[in-house]
Amino acid sequence: MIGLISATAAGAAARDRLAAAWPERTRVYDGPARDAVRAAFAECEQLVCFLATGAVVRLIAPLLSDKASDAGVVCVDESGRFAVSLVGGHGGGANDLAREVAEVLDARPVVTTATDAVGVPGLDTLGLPVEGDVAGVSRALLDGEPVALRAEVSWPLPALPVGAEGAYTIRLTDRHLDAVPEREVVLRPPSLVVGVGASRGAPVEEVLGLVEAALRDAGLSARSVGELATVDAKAEEPGIVRAAERLGVPLVTYSAGELARVAVPNPSGAPLAAVGTPSVAEAAALARGGELLVPKRKSERTDGRPAMATCAVVRRPARGRLAVVGLGPGARDLLTPRAKAELRRASVLVGLDQYVDQIRDLLRPGTRVLESGLGAEEERARTAVEEARRGQAVALIGSGDAGVYAMASPALAEASDDIDVVGVPGVTAALAAGAILGAPLGHDHVSISLSDLHTPWEVIERRVRAAAEADLVVTFYNPRSRGRDWQLPKALGILAEHRAPATPVGVVRNASRPDESSRLTTLAALDPATVDMMTVVTVGNTATREIAGRMVTPRGYRWQESRPKPPEHPEHPEHPKHPEHAETTRHPEHAVNKEESR
Ligand code: SAH
Repeated sequence: MIGLISATAAGAAARDRLAAAWPERTRVYDGPARDAVRAAFAECEQLVCFLATGAVVRLIAPLLSDKASDAGVVCVDESGRFAVSLVGGHGGGANDLAREVAEVLDARPVVTTATDAVGVPGLDTLGLPVEGDVAGVSRALLDGEPVALRAEVSWPLPALPVGAEGAYTIRLTDRHLDAVPEREVVLRPPSLVVGVGASRGAPVEEVLGLVEAALRDAGLSARSVGELATVDAKAEEPGIVRAAERLGVPLVTYSAGELARVAVPNPSGAPLAAVGTPSVAEAAALARGGELLVPKRKSERTDGRPAMATCAVVRRPARGRLAVVGLGPGARDLLTPRAKAELRRASVLVGLDQYVDQIRDLLRPGTRVLESGLGAEEERARTAVEEARRGQAVALIGSGDAGVYAMASPALAEASDDIDVVGVPGVTAALAAGAILGAPLGHDHVSISLSDLHTPWEVIERRVRAAAEADLVVTFYNPRSRGRDWQLPKALGILAEHRAPATPVGVVRNASRPDESSRLTTLAALDPATVDMMTVVTVGNTATREIAGRMVTPRGYRWQESRPKPPEHPEHPEHPKHPEHAETTRHPEHAVNKEESR
């Protein structure tokens, strides 16, 4: 019996929901919490207390005697967000109870035992059909018991805390099993492609019967069929369309030309005459590579009429997944939820060691981490792609946005179309710095890396000059290092040819990291020696101002003209008009705005 105790109205409401869900298993204890807890602890095997953990700890402390015999106690907080397994996690069954209670109340189970196993993905949430002892194996995973993974086909699974040995087993297979043994879970990857051909009007029973017989005779599971494939001309053939529907898989079609180019063991003249390819079933199944498990076979008819359907089965090569994930500038709350989800989805993580350290605590137990030091970009890119091509779920990480002066382009330059690629954007340094400085990027802006390691200086200089001439706000990445100290002064000099000495310049070091610092200075006053590789430098355009200690690049709205304006550059009377103001006066819609603002 589970004793239910509450003290407040909100607690009582949640208590009643639980009591209603489990009328046979629960008993409500009313009255003062102290008495109710004492009575329930004596009479029940388990307690659910709708009370603060602190209160419950004090109430049960004098009652506790032995881990093996004490009741299991779960606490649910006032707002019903958490179901906390407090004592008796294993012996008292409180861990399982917390999960069950959380399920009913739509709360989060909080289980603090077997911490090494926290963060285990639910076996039924992997997106694959699952059979067998899901509850038992999940519990083993959650409780940190050894679980073996037997992968008979390779498939991009998220990391699971599994090993080679264990009393429990997770088996990844597309083979048919008469029964799943105890303490075992079978995951069904969609690894089989069934190629089908059919003459016009072939009944769905004939097509489906053929497919099922082919799978059965080869010892394969229909639950692992990922798709049906055929030739374009048969895309609407009812028997094939319905067979795909009944199997619950997509129907993929290829042109006759594409199929004619696929090498197959059993070409024949009939389909060549009918649809223009010597093979439909085998060629469609093999169109994207793989291993032919069942060569072409024909349907068998009992009425002696010619067969109307053919099929062939292929095990397709595992399609790995490469997620290119930006971690943001450093602070954990600037890491996006999507980035976090991708990190938890990966079984292999590739990245620079210092970035790996930033997120190591988020990885699921069992994630294989391939970290390398500065400068090993090529190796990292190649490793990430190779692992994905091997069928793994790979996350390649970079700080800020992984596509900005980072790993996305070298990795995708290596990648072929046999892997899936997912990009997750991150907050790049220019944006993190901009938010600290004020609003420096309020109008057109550009980022320029001053690193001439991979780019000739002439190219960099040409771009700086163009930005200067175009009056763009410029953010310099990789501005200055010990061995690279003349580039920043040179670049600033080029900008100074087109901008006043008082042009605001923001210098932000380690944006959003613990030792963050920022300074607002001017083109004339910036001391390049204060800039290093942990820094970005944002130089304003001719309209950028320092307002109340913040760097602001005007958007150019006409309505702001009625407000008091900061002084013009005193040193540069030849810049009285900002280019964008000159432009906005020519826009008819700004005249309308002016009307409205009166
Ligand atoms: N992919 C990264 C940039 C990598 S290039 C991004 O999108 O932010 C490395 C340069 O980025 C550094 O030399 C520095 O100029 C800048 N940078 C990266 N993170 C920074 C941070 N937190 N604060 C300031 N500058 C940073």
